[in-house]
Amino acid sequence: MRLTVDYDLCTGHGRCYMLYPDLYDADDSGDAVVLLPIVPTDREQEALESVDCCPEGAIVVELDPPAAEPPHEAGGDAAVAAPAFAKPT
Ligand code: SF4
Repeated sequence: MRLTVDYDLCTGHGRCYMLYPDLYDADDSGDAVVLLPIVPTDREQEALESVDCCPEGAIVVELDPPAAEPPHEAGGDAAVAAPAFAKPT
């Protein structure tokens, strides 16, 4: 299970990190930061419950995330994509 925040929807009012401080923290602007982007099995129920705490619908759970990208080969010219759970800069 993968846990992410949609930063197009997050308004940074902080319900997630107040109610689930083991799963979320705040960045400098108050937006949520996911602390466990790959959720351990014993925390999945809590992660699912946390989705409902966000009135903006900004918390996203992927039950079956795609496998990790293969290692980038040296010398290639393909851009390396940021992890899906990283906040855009
Ligand atoms: S509850 Fe939702 S909108 Fe509020 S900080 Fe958390 S993810 Fe962002």
